[in-house]
Amino acid sequence: MTTHTRQAIVAGNWKMNFGPRQAATFATEIVPLLGALTEHYTQVLAVLCPPAISLPAVRQVLDANPFPRIELGAQNLYYQEKGAYTGELAPSMVAELCTTVIIGHSERRMYFHETDELVNQKVLAALKHGLRPIVCVGENEQQYDAGQTSEIVRSQVNKGLANLPQESLQQVVIAYEPIWAIGTGKAATMEQAGKVIQEIRETFATLHSNEAALALPILYGGSVTRENISEFMQHPEIDGALVGGASLKTDFVELLRQTIQAKI
Ligand code: PEP
Repeated sequence: MTTHTRQAIVAGNWKMNFGPRQAATFATEIVPLLGALTEHYTQVLAVLCPPAISLPAVRQVLDANPFPRIELGAQNLYYQEKGAYTGELAPSMVAELCTTVIIGHSERRMYFHETDELVNQKVLAALKHGLRPIVCVGENEQQYDAGQTSEIVRSQVNKGLANLPQESLQQVVIAYEPIWAIGTGKAATMEQAGKVIQEIRETFATLHSNEAALALPILYGGSVTRENISEFMQHPEIDGALVGGASLKTDFVELLRQTIQAKI
């Protein structure tokens, strides 16, 4: 299997950083640089995921600098179409501004009690509205130490990505993010991440089809930096990165550059 058949994606999860003004300033700085890198490569995609309140500000910057392979993503949505859900974002609202949405990030699972079942409802709602869900899975440190990684991750994939419509499978992206590696500076090794990602692909193949699994972009996330990204990208199973801390700096441009260098 070669990665050349799959899209390479570098997504920046800004988490709860950069309100509208700061987000616009930062996007104005990096979008032309990202655009120049992606211009000649159809197989690469950069996604910026600011906080919900900053989505319109970043959308404006992207509209003023239209590069087809720089996209906007939300960090969350709700699965209901509309109604009395104070503070939530309907999928159709997200789809007005974004192409992509992060779903089931470990911080949402941990602090906002999102279950695999809720993740599944959100994924289905995102797909229904033509959004590309980046579905996060990963084990915590205790589970890692107990050797339960495969079991946990397989179960998250089986439950979170169940019952997907056949015609939407090509829109799905998974990010393997071991929780112990997120924001800790303690990244997984390329071998560890590659092995789990291979298992995720096998699980997705059993759940859906071999063909869909072979086409599925699977990203690694967890303390990715300009120093370690090229190693991760050497692995044929790892199709890109979901990046937190390093996506808040111009380092993000360097992460994309190294991904293009490794994958294309
Ligand atoms: C993340 O938030 O998804 C993430 C991987 O964060 P960091 O890169 O900071 O570890």
